[in-house]
Amino acid sequence: MNLKKATWAKKVQLSKGLAGLAPKEFDAPVTMAETGGLIMGEALVASPDLGGDLMFVPGGTGFKPHTHHGHHLIFAISGECTVTLGAEIHRLSAGEVCLIPGEVPHAVTGITDTMLLAVGTPHMPVDAADRLELVSFEVLTAELSSQIRCMGCSTHKLYERHEILGADGVVRCPNMKSGGQCRLDAE
Ligand SMILES: [Zn+2]
Repeated sequence: MNLKKATWAKKVQLSKGLAGLAPKEFDAPVTMAETGGLIMGEALVASPDLGGDLMFVPGGTGFKPHTHHGHHLIFAISGECTVTLGAEIHRLSAGEVCLIPGEVPHAVTGITDTMLLAVGTPHMPVDAADRLELVSFEVLTAELSSQIRCMGCSTHKLYERHEILGADGVVRCPNMKSGGQCRLDAE
């Protein structure tokens, strides 16, 4: 049996002789479905039951609200994005990981350019059209709340749908800034 092995980060030299990790370049990037051609992915290791993929989400772009079979672990390995789960927007920064229940509507949006490592079960090819099932923004919020609460805003501000849903179907908090900052902090 062959060992499936791939590189998801490159080693870099830190101060004091310590080694660290930095995102690697894509070897064979493919366009991910339902992202307007803006998000690229690369399968690292996969079997039908389990797989790991790299995904590059340019700042301001994102995955529209969707569900999928099985759960995902999303590791942020560079940059910063938001993860909207149910009726809450959360910040996910490099060095953090979150568990996304596949059956719960959710969305991911780059605050900055973001490299993500997604580990999921079952595993679908990164460019598979049925990797995810889009849900309407009404479905994302309907059963939970008529408003979305941003946990990245210092006041955990509530937003009406039209305030955070772009014409492209991507969820964006109007106040979220990179570096853990929120424009409300300055007010
Ligand atoms: Zn916010």
